[in-house]
Amino acid sequence: MKTFECGSLVPGCDWHTRAEEEAEVVRRAVDHLRVTHGEEVVRPAMVDQIKSRIRDKQMDAR
Ligand SMILES: [Zn+2]
Repeated sequence: MKTFECGSLVPGCDWHTRAEEEAEVVRRAVDHLRVTHGEEVVRPAMVDQIKSRIRDKQMDAR
């Protein structure tokens, strides 16, 4: 499971998402940036920033 917290990229935003695939997390994050933060064009550099902030989350913690 992959998770992304928007607050790690946009301070103060508490939106977050999770999905099985990194690509799906990126897709949702890009949608969110477009709709909520008015990023009409999401640049490749921003996709890299999203990817670098995606965390692996084990469902079965510990
Ligand atoms: Zn956000």
